[in-house]
Amino acid sequence: MRLAFKYPVYPTKTQATTLLKWLDHLCELQNSGRHDRIVALETEGVFVSLDAQQTLLTAARKKYDDFREVPQDMQNHALRRTDKAFANFRRRCENGAAQKGYPRYKKRVRSLTWSLRKYPKVVRRKTKDTDKQTIRVRQNPICETAWKHDRLKVPELGEVKIYMHRPLRGDPKEVTLVKKASGWYAHISCELPTPPKVAPTDAIAVDMGTTHYLTTSEGEKEDNPRWYRQAEGVLRKHARDLSRKKKGSHRRKKQQHKLALHHERTVNRRKDFIGKLVYKLYHHLKNNVLVAEDLRVSNMVKNKHLSKSISDASWATFFKWCADMVSERDGLHFHQVAPKDTSQICSSCGQKSPKKLSLAIRTFKCQSCGTVLDRDHNAAINILFKAAAAFRGERWVTTLYET
Ligand SMILES: [Zn+2]
Repeated sequence: MRLAFKYPVYPTKTQATTLLKWLDHLCELQNSGRHDRIVALETEGVFVSLDAQQTLLTAARKKYDDFREVPQDMQNHALRRTDKAFANFRRRCENGAAQKGYPRYKKRVRSLTWSLRKYPKVVRRKTKDTDKQTIRVRQNPICETAWKHDRLKVPELGEVKIYMHRPLRGDPKEVTLVKKASGWYAHISCELPTPPKVAPTDAIAVDMGTTHYLTTSEGEKEDNPRWYRQAEGVLRKHARDLSRKKKGSHRRKKQQHKLALHHERTVNRRKDFIGKLVYKLYHHLKNNVLVAEDLRVSNMVKNKHLSKSISDASWATFFKWCADMVSERDGLHFHQVAPKDTSQICSSCGQKSPKKLSLAIRTFKCQSCGTVLDRDHNAAINILFKAAAAFRGERWVTTLYET
């Protein structure tokens, strides 16, 4: 299992200038790699391999000075990124997907990645047969200091201040430096052993919504903070101010930065909320199974009346974090069930409502057994039943389907 630990880093002015220069170089490299691939595809109809591009890179490094200034590992990672984009493009072509197009031209690259290699290290052993033994040790990217800030070793740049607010765990494999509006961040990707799965005992189901973020099968509701809608007013002001600044001016640059900071803050707030919510559902409420609907978020966003609310809620991130962060990292369970009919069926008798309930009707009234329940609560219970049936290996059938 891979986990990324994120820390703020504080390069000096000179270091930041070099890093920005490297980013520009990588951007150019990625775009020229993209260009070469497109030309090869259009003239000869072949897909250029990563190996071929890396050979070209090595040749270019021998020839040009500006290529040598940037660590080769970072360049290789940049080419790998293009390769990945083209592999996806190739898959789309072969599947005959409706929307295929070349991977995009990159206006800007925001991150640089390098791998941490293993190197041989001689260790002394006090055994009779061997005095010395060579083992392979992974290089540690962090130099610890007695000060508040430790140092991150960046190839060909030296040591950069890093604030280690939490300890690293596992075996560090890759470091990515990311430039954001608020500064630089290091993402250190570590390999950790995957924990064994716990036995499923306590389950909870959630029904996602837009008025409330979610409703649990216990009937609890979580408010939807609507970060984007909240931020919209200030955002509009910033954007308007930006449009009034002269192009290429220093003030326009400053305003762009303000706008970018605002966007970053909205994203951070959303992530903070989702992270805490996932933690609450599992750890505070002491559940080890979480069930949700398998919603096709990318399709739902196409509905123009709901798209902004759904994008703002970022359900996809919620599902992903449930699956990756908790279920993979802590050995807990996350299941998704087909959303069909979950809001149309009575959770106590299983009778399907004869008329389709529109989204505007918020209470579920059963015609046959007289149960009156909140619409989302009813749906959440149904989702839980559906998952339980799937666990037992049954098909979830309602009385209506049987008759
Ligand atoms: Zn009923």
